[in-house]
Amino acid sequence: MLELTHIKKYYHVGDSVTKALDDVSVAFRKQEFVAILGPSGSGKTTMLNGIGGLDVYDSGDLVIKGKSTKDFKDSDWDAYRNNSVGFIFQSYNIIGHLSILDNVEMGMTLSGVGNAEKKAKAKKALERVGLGPHMNKRPNQLSGGQMQRVAIARAIANDPEILLCDEPTGALDTETSVQIMDLIKELSAERLVIMVTHNPELAQEYANRIIEFADGKIQHDSNPFNETEADETFALKKTKMTFWTALKLSFTNIKTKKGRTALTAFASSIGIIGIAIVLALSNGFQKQIDKTQSNTLAQMPITISQVVSSQTGTPKATIKAAKSGSVRAKTSQADQATHTNKLTKRYLTYIKDLNPDLSKNVTYTYSTGMNLIRQVDGKTKSVSFSNQNSKNGSAGSASAAMASATGVGTSVYPSANQGKNSLLKKHYSVLAGKYPTKASEVVLITDRKNTTNINALKNLGYDVKSNQNLSYSKLVGTTIKVVANNDYYQELPTGNYLPNKLTKSMYNKSANQTIKVVGILKAKNKDSENVLATGIAYSDQLSKNIIQANKDSKIVKAQKQSDTNVMTGAKVDSDTKTSLISYLGGSSTPASILIYPNSFKNKDKVLKYLDKYNKGKSKANKVVYTDLAGTVSTLTGGLMDAITYVLIAFAGISLVTSMIMIAIITYTSVLERTKEIGILKALGARKKDITRVFDAETVILGVASGVLGVLIAWAITFPTNTILSNITGLGNVAQLNPVHAIVLIIISTVLTVLGGHIPARMAAKKDAATALRSE
Ligand code: ADP
Repeated sequence: MLELTHIKKYYHVGDSVTKALDDVSVAFRKQEFVAILGPSGSGKTTMLNGIGGLDVYDSGDLVIKGKSTKDFKDSDWDAYRNNSVGFIFQSYNIIGHLSILDNVEMGMTLSGVGNAEKKAKAKKALERVGLGPHMNKRPNQLSGGQMQRVAIARAIANDPEILLCDEPTGALDTETSVQIMDLIKELSAERLVIMVTHNPELAQEYANRIIEFADGKIQHDSNPFNETEADETFALKKTKMTFWTALKLSFTNIKTKKGRTALTAFASSIGIIGIAIVLALSNGFQKQIDKTQSNTLAQMPITISQVVSSQTGTPKATIKAAKSGSVRAKTSQADQATHTNKLTKRYLTYIKDLNPDLSKNVTYTYSTGMNLIRQVDGKTKSVSFSNQNSKNGSAGSASAAMASATGVGTSVYPSANQGKNSLLKKHYSVLAGKYPTKASEVVLITDRKNTTNINALKNLGYDVKSNQNLSYSKLVGTTIKVVANNDYYQELPTGNYLPNKLTKSMYNKSANQTIKVVGILKAKNKDSENVLATGIAYSDQLSKNIIQANKDSKIVKAQKQSDTNVMTGAKVDSDTKTSLISYLGGSSTPASILIYPNSFKNKDKVLKYLDKYNKGKSKANKVVYTDLAGTVSTLTGGLMDAITYVLIAFAGISLVTSMIMIAIITYTSVLERTKEIGILKALGARKKDITRVFDAETVILGVASGVLGVLIAWAITFPTNTILSNITGLGNVAQLNPVHAIVLIIISTVLTVLGGHIPARMAAKKDAATALRSE
């Protein structure tokens, strides 16, 4: 059955050598009860561990069923311990955090025996050792004798051929010792039992063969045996612990030290909490910035005006100080910055070619006047779409038209985009009527409280007082006529032009365009209020249509040829002449172009596109735009990123700290569980399985600290938001992104496992025999 030939095992400690086994040769029968007797330190345990494969001999050979173990690999030893050998130790070696049944099942768990079979065998073994009624107790509720019975049940549960007992009654009282010895004697009827003892009476009474040991040598053998036959079959089933078993082992172990685990998880979650909060804040701030940005964007489009008073990108000329005793004349900054943009056909085409994905909303404003008339109470009245006070400048004058055409708070919306992202639909909802769909349809814009500019109503021909309410029905459906220049102006014999008398017949001229107020639109929110001025808003296509109708009119032709104002006869300079021609509809050059980009990122692209046009152009030919919204937000965006990175770096440091802590904790756990490692190895666990047990423990810790960290961070966002909202008025700043939360839990787990893996590997390398000797 078993044969040791010339086995040597020396221990080297410092310079001294201990010959624990010194050329031992002995053979054992298939069935017998062998007692190994000898004084303490004579090498008995070393031999037993060698036979059981817990310790590997230095030289010689251990032959099992005729098979040499010289070439055994680790996995062969693991399988041998698991399949063929059962161990019983003096100190029981029960795993305290597992139930009795789990302890007994462990060997079978390692070799992958099915659940039902495993349970049945374990129960049978427990009944056999007389523990049937105590099966459901915890190990720490058992007496010493009962503990040893559990150990015996564990050793025989898988029905091994060899039972190795190391001082099995060494820790028991006499009465219990007898019971245990009787039990072992009974078990020896079916298998080879080798028992180490230093008690000669015990050996005499129970064993049928006594081998006496001293100084690592066999001194006497009462019943020697010569192994002859070598034809027995010897096959070993390899062991393997599933990750699930490892998890269960770690989990029950962790349960025994709940407080410490909770503290550890909390401490190592601090890094996660830090990062989660930083991410939540920067996420929320970014959202706030994005929101503010797109709002600013809506109110402050990129503006390209014919005349720019504050241009971006003009290098400041360095002005030398004046000579002493003199004063230097300097151009004012405003004058320096004034630039006239040449909005040429080429440039307009360039704008038209702007990628619609970047901006679908491009408004063109024109300084053309409109000859608008309306029938009020049977009288034909001159009206206008202006919201300026008509006392300060006659309605429909060039200055008023130009004022309403410049930049923020314009009355003009882009006609090109009618989709749901059109400027109107995005920022205004319908109070009455409908959204306009044609150039001949105009709308009345109100703020969020349904108020509109009184001047706009007055200029439209309504006799209203301040704070007076007008019903929707009075406004929606209002019809206005645009009269062509040729019908509106008459040429006097002097060559000058004057408006005709406003009559019903003028109202009914066939060349008139009919315009209708089709709806009242209300600003959706505070920022939308700034997109269009309250009052009448019309599409830029309307201006284009009017210019188309008037550009070849008599008055335009006359004005183009004259150096005087054709209406007043006053002399004009070239600038005034140009604006007069524009006012009369003789120029199709827009007064300004307003570009509303879709998003902040796209705005940068739009700006790049505009910059590209200027490349290589002389200063005078450059087209300069104004981007008020830009300056502020590019700055805040970059700042936000920088702050986020710095804070994450800090939080990262605490994450690394917690990783080191986890490594230390795992290492402590390894030290604490050294005995358990020995037991598991004695039961056939592989190195890998041991690593797995500790990896499983760190997985549990990592997931726990990650989840805890995320939960705490999430809980902290609430008070943080309240505080921030009180201080800054911004709501919901801290928002933990679920994706970030999941990523953080994964990071926590991975880092924890990494930190704990090295101690786990150290645990796996532990020598089984040494591990079992540890207390
Ligand atoms: P016994 O079981 O007969 O008391 P052991 O087999 O435990 O004896 O020990 C035999 C000798 O080997 C002892 O002198 C002991 O000190 C020594 N020994 C056992 N294990 C080790 C070890 N891991 N390192 C060094 N010496 C050891």
